[in-house]
Amino acid sequence: MDLLPSETTSQIAKKHGFRSLKLVNVDLDQVLEDQPVGADYGRIDNCLFYYVRRNSKPRMHAALALAVKAGSVLEEEEERGVVHMVEHLAFSATNKYTNHDIVKFLESIGAEIGACQNAVTSADETVYELFVPVDKPELLSQAISVLAEFSTEVRVSKDDLDKERAVMEEHRGNRNASGRMQDAYWILMMEVSKYADRLRIGLEKVIRTVSAETVKQFYRKWYHLQNMAVIAVGDFSDTQMS
Ligand SMILES: [Zn+2]
Repeated sequence: MDLLPSETTSQIAKKHGFRSLKLVNVDLDQVLEDQPVGADYGRIDNCLFYYVRRNSKPRMHAALALAVKAGSVLEEEEERGVVHMVEHLAFSATNKYTNHDIVKFLESIGAEIGACQNAVTSADETVYELFVPVDKPELLSQAISVLAEFSTEVRVSKDDLDKERAVMEEHRGNRNASGRMQDAYWILMMEVSKYADRLRIGLEKVIRTVSAETVKQFYRKWYHLQNMAVIAVGDFSDTQMS
């Protein structure tokens, strides 16, 4: 089936100013592969999933991610906002790294400082992402170690939590008109499902008063290695896991 008008490729390319544009013929009856294409993947000790893919641009860099199947839809009423708090607390401190260590590490890879800059929480998942140079093995292994800490070693202390409450409240307060419209649109689309009342922004009351114990319980309940994948895409010489 032709998805594009009956102009030729070169006419379309000229019109839109592309130097090269290839038309891909999509056979809509063809069944999509259910396995990732072009990536080495598997499970480590039958737990954590991994996906590794070689990509030479940008040169000598890699994107590493820890994807956790924990999103706001899993929250109970008294936990609304907690999954996003966990994301923020990960950057506050872990059992091995203090806040100062994490900030220093982010600076060393030229990343912006802070949770929302290096992680995203949605209704279904939380993804931590770090961009690192691959020609500095110590940075690469530190990045992997930071992600490993996020997976099971986030420190949820009362002090860390109290500091984050203010940051999260600021988030809520700073939502502009378009953010609030998006929320309203989402609620309408998801009507009658749990997604409609589990916006990741959470409830003001929960953010102000939730106990460190409740946050810890949520973290322990959902952050399991079998619920996570580590993804590495970069200018690697090979993609074999060792
Ligand atoms: Zn955030």
